[in-house]
Amino acid sequence: MIEVLDLRFKEYISEERIQERVKAIASELNLKYEGKDPLFLGILNGSFMFIADIFKHVNIPCEVSFLKINSYLNTSSTEKIKELIGLNQSLEGRHVVILEDIVDTGRTLDYILRTIGERNPASVEVATLLHKPSAMVVPVQIDYVGFEIENQFVLGYGLDYNGYGRNHNSILIKVDE
Ligand code: 5GP
Repeated sequence: MIEVLDLRFKEYISEERIQERVKAIASELNLKYEGKDPLFLGILNGSFMFIADIFKHVNIPCEVSFLKINSYLNTSSTEKIKELIGLNQSLEGRHVVILEDIVDTGRTLDYILRTIGERNPASVEVATLLHKPSAMVVPVQIDYVGFEIENQFVLGYGLDYNGYGRNHNSILIKVDE
């Protein structure tokens, strides 16, 4: 059992399985984007390990940029406002691949896809390490999935709980008390 702040976790996806899937996804990307000069957009913070590991196996000419989602409550309502920051290069005519850590309800990715779509890219694909199909509220396009997981809170391999737990090489799942 591994404690992170006030919660308890156990290993769910081992480092070996993660590395195997990451390598397989990178191979698919190498084939698909050969000669297309893709632009990878990594969504921080949770995907920093995924992005780094994918890039150890991507061996075609490409660029990578890092974006961040700021999410805050609208002062006049309970509505959560999302803001994509760091997108300061042209996407016009580019083949874009979004790298995400986890797709839960799909709201974040839906927002990212709409924002990026407005910049006239030639194509957009999405690779996510984790996907919780049963939590999906907004249907979104996902092209490469590392692992489909159950609707439980996970952390590790870059994903956090209140800022902690990112520094585990495997994915851990919350244990119910
Ligand atoms: P969505 O907008 O799809 O509901 O949520 C996506 C974001 O919620 C992710 O980028 C991540 O920051 C956070 N998230 C959703 N589920 C989990 C989870 O199980 N563990 C962690 N650490 N973050 C999660």
